[in-house]
Amino acid sequence: MIGWDAVAELDRRDPLSRYRDRFALPKGLIYLDGNSLGALPRSVATRVLDTVHEQWGEELIGSWNSYGWIDMPLAVGDKIAPLVGAGPGQVICADSVSVNLFKLLAVAAAMQSERRLVLTVSDNFPGDSYIAQGLTRLLGENRLRLVKTTEADIARAINTQVAVVLLSHVNFRTGRLLPMADITAAAHRAGALVIWDVAHSAGVVPMELDDWNVDFAVGCGYKFLNGGPGAPAFLYAAARHHANVQQPLGGWMGHREPFAFEPDYAPGKGIRRFLTGTPPILSMAALDAALDSFAGVDLEKLRIKSMALGKLMVELVQRTELADELSLVSPAPPQLRGSQLSWSHPQAYGIVQAMIERGVVADFREPDILRVGFSPLYNSFCDIWEAVECLRSVIAGGEHLDARWRHRQRVT
Ligand SMILES: *Cc1c(COP(=O)(O)O)cnc(C)c1O
Repeated sequence: MIGWDAVAELDRRDPLSRYRDRFALPKGLIYLDGNSLGALPRSVATRVLDTVHEQWGEELIGSWNSYGWIDMPLAVGDKIAPLVGAGPGQVICADSVSVNLFKLLAVAAAMQSERRLVLTVSDNFPGDSYIAQGLTRLLGENRLRLVKTTEADIARAINTQVAVVLLSHVNFRTGRLLPMADITAAAHRAGALVIWDVAHSAGVVPMELDDWNVDFAVGCGYKFLNGGPGAPAFLYAAARHHANVQQPLGGWMGHREPFAFEPDYAPGKGIRRFLTGTPPILSMAALDAALDSFAGVDLEKLRIKSMALGKLMVELVQRTELADELSLVSPAPPQLRGSQLSWSHPQAYGIVQAMIERGVVADFREPDILRVGFSPLYNSFCDIWEAVECLRSVIAGGEHLDARWRHRQRVT
């Protein structure tokens, strides 16, 4: 049995442990939900206050020029780019994942005018499928149709009728990590385009969007990038596609001359054409500051630590009575997972609530999943130990069976 001393030793030897101080975490709280809402980086509050007082308050509308607000979607996009293996000028920060996905799916469909199938998996993030269904309704089923397969069958399901393969890099429920490079290559061999949703991997699983020839991707600002609640999302479009596409929500910010106020739309240069309306400067400033937490961080080391945190948690659970209570839903080999673990349990919701009451934050996902996420920048190996001890106490004391947990809150 791995003891507390051995776990504390892992923290002492952890080359990333010094980054924890970049975050303002409440004392005593163990936060294993950075995959849902990242923790608050210390750099954020001053930056937002400065943006409010010194920029908005003092210079008012002049700040669009003097503080470069107008270029923030591109500047923040370029700051995200190295985290996803993208060269400059291919990532913009804008809107939500859902809206960005709508734009990209419409663009990809238009590029594939001879094909009509959008291939995804049945347990993809439902919101992504909703967006695909919405676009399908808009264009008509004769033009676009969503088809679903399983993660195990993707390779077989990709054929020459598929226009677009739409997948999540990491499954939000199980944490399974899909082989992005291989699937992208297989899609291209069949003449299909790919759109990857990297919401659960950007900032924690290294990826090479450029080197792997990915066409398009969308990602989230408020999960592992720690941009704060409702932070703007990002969109990646490979430079080779820029000139050929017009997106359906091309608003004035995506126009080639927004302030020329020309009567008709003409797409902006490069990635700019994917912009729609005015950027949310306060939220974008928060995300911009949050991205500074990645300064000097080696993404490979981040991945190694993330896998080690998960491996430790699986081992600690496996060696206790919890092994009979919880069934691991995530793939067992760490290299097949993103930075999260999921177990199923009939009272998973009660377990999560009782853990939160004890100061360990995890989350619940339908139908019966207890989910924990690891943010290697601020989670320690001792956090994992404490979380497992907490889990044992909750179950041993029957705290998860409390009648209070029969009523679910709106956000689980
Ligand atoms: C969190 C998440 C989103 C979020 O989408 P929004 O439109 O920004 O709310 C999208 N896709 C996946 C896979 C996610 O995990």
